[in-house]
Amino acid sequence: MALIVQKYGGTSVGSIERIKAVAERVRKTVLGGDRVVVVVSAMAGETDRLFSLASQLGTNPSPRETDVLVSTGEQVSAALLAIRLQAMGLPAVSFLAHQLRLRTDSNHGRAKIRSIDVRRVLQALDEGNIVVAAGYQGIDSHGNITTLGRGASDLTAVALAAALRADRCEIYTDVEGVFTADPTICPNARKLSRITYDEMLELAGSGAKVLQARSVELAKRYKVPLMVLSSFSDTPGTMVVEENEAMESVLVSGVTLDRNQSKITLTGVEDRPGLAAKIFGPIAAAGIVVDMIIQNASADGRTDLTFTVARSDLPRALAIVNEVAVQIGASGVRFEEQVAKVSVVGCGMRTHAGVAARMFEALAKEGINIEMIATSEIKISAVVNVKYGELAVRVLHEEFFGTGSPKTAQKGDA
Ligand code: ADP
Ligand code: ASP
Ligand code: MG
Repeated sequence: MALIVQKYGGTSVGSIERIKAVAERVRKTVLGGDRVVVVVSAMAGETDRLFSLASQLGTNPSPRETDVLVSTGEQVSAALLAIRLQAMGLPAVSFLAHQLRLRTDSNHGRAKIRSIDVRRVLQALDEGNIVVAAGYQGIDSHGNITTLGRGASDLTAVALAAALRADRCEIYTDVEGVFTADPTICPNARKLSRITYDEMLELAGSGAKVLQARSVELAKRYKVPLMVLSSFSDTPGTMVVEENEAMESVLVSGVTLDRNQSKITLTGVEDRPGLAAKIFGPIAAAGIVVDMIIQNASADGRTDLTFTVARSDLPRALAIVNEVAVQIGASGVRFEEQVAKVSVVGCGMRTHAGVAARMFEALAKEGINIEMIATSEIKISAVVNVKYGELAVRVLHEEFFGTGSPKTAQKGDA
């Protein structure tokens, strides 16, 4: 008898009909003899609706109350699914964060999981129940409700799977798995039957929201067998796996687009040691993650420093940078609220050169200007004007996966 964690995302539980379909899928798994913990997201659009309600009542709603509010979407879905399962004659019990004993730190809106005590979940399973857990939420050491960040029901699922030592964690969503690019942007994207944890981590971290990045990190650390598949069909999905030698022959696994980046430039910064630390120290202290950084000489012999942050962090980052700019005598601060980051990811880049050149050439051929570049061992990212973001993804997909390109995605092609 296997223990399986199944997570259903917003679209998968987006209506009464969809909840009935999910209950049916859970029933099949249980009838197959497996024990099931289901993790649910809020119904599609609900979390956004709740955030917008809060912002209509206060310009700067308190993080604590915001979490009390936005965590309710998952409570509704968990109860509805448990009600449906019970109506089908299946013993089911819904669990919220305090019942899951999912403890987090007190960073509202982006809390980190500290521990999960699964004894109560195991007891409910032993009593023959299907456990339906609310995703996305946690409880801090003061008993306050926290949330784990947008898209983090995936993280709840993987964390529960790790804590329960589940046989696998299945992430059900509205596409049939992980594709070579977002299928809504790139109609000829192909489904991958397998992808490595590292590649998935880079894809997720650079805009492929099909899996939340922290969930992949946790799955890798605890070796949780992770699958992405559709709740709308019975087609086999994508397995996230450890890298093996055969995979290195694959150059590129996917192309991503992240439209949630902002760009800040400090102009006329004096060129002397210690200034970068003066700028990025306070930004790091505020918990803001800086993604890309470039520095180049400006006209007056000083330098311009440009970097990107998540769009949601822009107001806080600007407040800090404006203050620092005065302190260090920089001549000004400019920003672009939305830029696009396109990335090409593949573990074959560890051993093969030339991907960057192909990427830049393909973008140049379409007249797309590259504003910033960053690389990791298995990823190359470029910042481009947001109006060219989708075009850039299609151009790069054609370059690396198109009919005219050398076949680069042998691994896991479906
Ligand atoms: P859920 O609500 O189930 O958590 P999400 O909206 O968070 O679903 O993630 C699924 C979406 O991710 C898909 O609808 C798709 O548009 C998008 N996506 C982006 N990149 C990829 C990719 N490489 N492969 C599959 N889906 C992707
Ligand atoms: N409901 C939350 C969100 O929309 C968490 C999730 O869906 O994973 O971000
Ligand atoms: Mg999601």
